[in-house]
This record gives sequence, C-alpha cells and structure tokens, in this order.
Amino acid sequence: MSEGAPGPLLGLGKTELEQWAVAQGQPAFRGRQLHDWLYSKGARSLAAVTVLPSAWRQQLAANLPPGQPDWVGRSRELHRSVAADGTTKLLLATADGLSLETVGIPARDRLTVCVSSQVGCPMACRFCATGKGGLQRSLAVHEIVDQVLSVQEVMDARPSHVVFMGMGEPLLNIDAVLSAMACLCTDLGMAQRQITLSTVGVPKTLPQLAQLALERLGRAQFTLAVSLHAPDQRLREELIPTAHAYPLEALLEDCREYVAITGRRVSFEYILLGGVNDQPRHAEALARLLRGFQSHVNLIAYNPIAEESFQRPSPAAVDGFRRILEDRHVAVSVRASRGLDADAACGQLRRRLGGSLAGDLELA
Ligand code: SF4
Repeated sequence: MSEGAPGPLLGLGKTELEQWAVAQGQPAFRGRQLHDWLYSKGARSLAAVTVLPSAWRQQLAANLPPGQPDWVGRSRELHRSVAADGTTKLLLATADGLSLETVGIPARDRLTVCVSSQVGCPMACRFCATGKGGLQRSLAVHEIVDQVLSVQEVMDARPSHVVFMGMGEPLLNIDAVLSAMACLCTDLGMAQRQITLSTVGVPKTLPQLAQLALERLGRAQFTLAVSLHAPDQRLREELIPTAHAYPLEALLEDCREYVAITGRRVSFEYILLGGVNDQPRHAEALARLLRGFQSHVNLIAYNPIAEESFQRPSPAAVDGFRRILEDRHVAVSVRASRGLDADAACGQLRRRLGGSLAGDLELA
C-alpha cells in the first residue's frame, strides 16, 4: 500500500505503519503502537486497538475504504474442524465473500501452519480437491498473513513453521507470497528457514523466484518444495494436466538454476497413489531421474477424495518405495499423515461446505 492510500493495514511493516499514521495526521509512534497490536496482540479491528485515541478510531471507522469492513484486514472464521491428533482446519471468509482453508498442524514442539496462496487453483491436479473448482482469485498479502494469525489465535500457540501448501499455486502469486514471507519474518519474527514454498511448477518462474527472493528478502533460505508426483513426463501429465506445458527436463533444469542462484537444495514432493505411481519401477525411475541432484524427497501417502478413484497406497508399498530410494542414496523421508478425520486433503473442507459464503451461511 502506498503512503496514505486506502487498504488493509495487516501486512505492512513498522516503517509503513509509521508513514500511514503520519499521513493520517498522527505522530509516527502511533504506527509503532499499531504494529505491536496487529502482530503481537493479534488485534482484529482498529476498534480493539484501545491504545489509540478513540476520536481517531471513530474518525477512521467513518472513513473506511470501499469494500473493507475494517482497516485491519482480518478474516472471519466460518468453520473449524479439529482432528483427534489436534490438526485444526479453518474455513475463513474474505472481505469479498470468498472462503479459503488454512490448517494448523501440531507436533511435539512444533506448530506448522499450512497456508493458501489463492482461492481455488487453476492447476487442476487430478488428485486434489481444490483443483476441481478452478481459480477464483489470488490472495493479497494481508489474507495470507491473517491465516497464520488465525491459527495462532485458535490454537493458542505461536506457529513455528509455515508451509505454502494449501489452496493455490504460489508461483502464480509470487509478489504477494514474497511480501507475506517478508512480513512473517520481519513482523512476526519467524526465520526464513521455518518457511516452505511448495509448487507444482510454472514455466520459467523458479529462476525468477530465486532472483526476487534475493532482492526482496535479502537471501533465499526458505525451503523450495517441488511437487513431482511422477518419475516420467507421461505419467506426470496424467496426474498434473498443466505439466504438458512444462517438460520434466525443463522443470529439473530450472530447479538446478534455482540451486545455483540460492545455494539451497530443493525438496521434491511425491504423493504416492496406490497402484498408480507407487510401484518399485517408479521408485527406481525416480532415483535415476534425481541421480547427482542436491535434493531431498518427501513421500506422502495420498488422502482419498470423493471425486477421484485414486487409492491410498499400502504401508508396504510406501515402505518399499522409501527403501529403493535409500538404497540408491536418495535422501528421503515419509511425511506422516495428520488429521485424516479433519478433511485433511487440500480443499476437502471447502468443497464439502461449499466454495462461497452462500453455501456457508449456516456455519457463520
Ligand atoms: S495440488 Fe496444489 S497446484 Fe495442484 S490443483 Fe491442488 S492446490 Fe493446485
């Protein structure tokens, strides 16, 4: 937001909030107070920031930017789904009446927030509930940061990690995603290494991401997780239709360029679909594909969704796949399934409850 321009305050840094306060005819320290209340105290509205003069708050409330219910830019919780293991999925409402998912995943000394970068997604991956509904729009910075604050508030714990693995393709919303990362690090005190950006791949964007991260964040220390899901182009296109425009060789070449620019290794995500891509020959082909690549493979057992007939892989298939990669010196881990009973697969809760507020009114 430029100085004096209307727009949500969440997502702005201390200096920008100082400038905003001054542009409103207030001393700069009011901006620092706002910063403290937005990020440390989790204020949901300016009315709640009682440290500010009430006359100023009333004046601001009477001059809200069009379409904004409040200056701050927090979402409204529509629904909460809590699994036995504590995994908590929230359905949040945006100011313009859309709904998005965010998930808090507790584990021992961690709280990971899985955030969405878009409402819906245009990538149409066949195994994904979000991809079934197409894209509605990309999220703004405040709508991404709000997800982390919402999980913090609901779970009453400070998030230790943030993963951009929720709804949407982050590389189609690079600008807002990098600004949100900057806010999480500078204003919420997270380390870049606690953040993971997951992508299914958008042509030419990985080198751009590396350059922009260096320019905007000063360094690129977050984890880049690239969703492969198949060891060859044919099978990958079957699972990820948009992959036809991005051959596997070109994707891996862009990954190498990303590693060269940032000095960081790449994680490869691989969803195991029972009988589809979880066979020993697939593991052997994946090991050949990644030979000599500075990488790490995360295996994830598929969460079934109603719209597709894919099956969850058997524990033996998951274990066999892992062992083949290990035997071929590929760094690999198996991600534990969390919150299976909390509509855990990406986009499931939103689809079950309806993608717009019209379908969610009874939940509010
Ligand atoms: S898996 Fe990710 S990129 Fe693919 S459709 Fe779902 S949200 Fe989009």
